[in-house]
Amino acid sequence: MTESDQQETRGKGVRVREVVAGLPTYIAGKPALPNAYKVSSNENPFPPLPSVVQRIAEAAADINRYPDPACTALRGTLSTFLGVDPSSLALSTGSVSMLQHLVSTVAGEGDEVMYAWRSFEAYPIIVGVAGATAVQVPLTEDLRHDLVAMADAVTERTRLIIVCSPNNPTGTTTTSTEFEAFMRRVPEHVLVILDEAYVEFVADQQAVSGSQEFSRYPNLVVLRTFSKAYGLAGLRVGYAMLPPALAPQVAKAVTPFGVNSLAQAAAMASLEEPAKRELDQRVVELQFERARVEHALADQGWPVTPSQGNFVFLALGDKSQDFADHCNRGGLVVRAYGADGVRITIDTPAANDRAISLCREWRAFSKAARII
Ligand SMILES: *Cc1c(COP(=O)(O)O)cnc(C)c1O
Repeated sequence: MTESDQQETRGKGVRVREVVAGLPTYIAGKPALPNAYKVSSNENPFPPLPSVVQRIAEAAADINRYPDPACTALRGTLSTFLGVDPSSLALSTGSVSMLQHLVSTVAGEGDEVMYAWRSFEAYPIIVGVAGATAVQVPLTEDLRHDLVAMADAVTERTRLIIVCSPNNPTGTTTTSTEFEAFMRRVPEHVLVILDEAYVEFVADQQAVSGSQEFSRYPNLVVLRTFSKAYGLAGLRVGYAMLPPALAPQVAKAVTPFGVNSLAQAAAMASLEEPAKRELDQRVVELQFERARVEHALADQGWPVTPSQGNFVFLALGDKSQDFADHCNRGGLVVRAYGADGVRITIDTPAANDRAISLCREWRAFSKAARII
């Protein structure tokens, strides 16, 4: 018996909630082999700024102490940066844990939580663990949220609706007009979460902006993260802008001392000048690379879904896994989504060049095989 077999047998006697036993495991992006590029987790390819690393090192001198559980300094800085009162801000160990806290605050057995599909793979798992019922509303044909269908699908049992803009993995955004029309239709006792993990990469002026919408609704939470544009994925820090009346309730569900002192220091340092400006400049470079990749793929004849995130999505249908295998063999670790498509993170110019050339090869093979 191997060690993991033994563990498996050992765990067998313990009764686990059926909803948990039936859930899929969250699959993280595969680590890349040497000489391969890992473009499967939407990470920021830039190494941390020296000024941020310096502040982490300074904060390390105090790690015998618990971190500030209220993240007071970081909350104050964010409050100024966003123009939102500190009482409407809550920090968490990545925005995924805040999402988990919010779901468990508002929904349990017998309640419905709605989200678009395909969207972020953590949603079904978080909703399932809470014991709530997931209601998945299909994306439109052009891979966007169908907010009309989502408003139509609200029932007596709906407690929470998650809107992901830009949507992971399709890169599409919800417009502010669509969002406003949607919010007018959603009853005020239903919480809406706008997941903006990629908002810093948005260039489209029509796209919804959580910081602008936030103060207009008593039932809107906006989720953001330092993992993507700010390049702090390894430290785990995200936040919510949330209605002040909801904040104390969510606080009960939050793990105490979750956001560690190094993460708090790094996030603070990232919001100060000149670090903030340098980080913004990196986002501009990634946006430039995104446009370059999209143009190159369009030139090759790909039907590219225009993306506002730090990734592109290729709707390859049942060819998704074959294409992902082709990329893996070519030293590019991408992420396939069943029979829907493949997501490729925008990375360094060299990684993006490899993506472009693997896509070109695939088109050539497919043409030769008369698949397209
Ligand atoms: C990456 C991502 C997050 C954020 O994850 P963290 O926990 O903050 O690292 C949240 N939502 C979506 C849709 C994401 O893709």
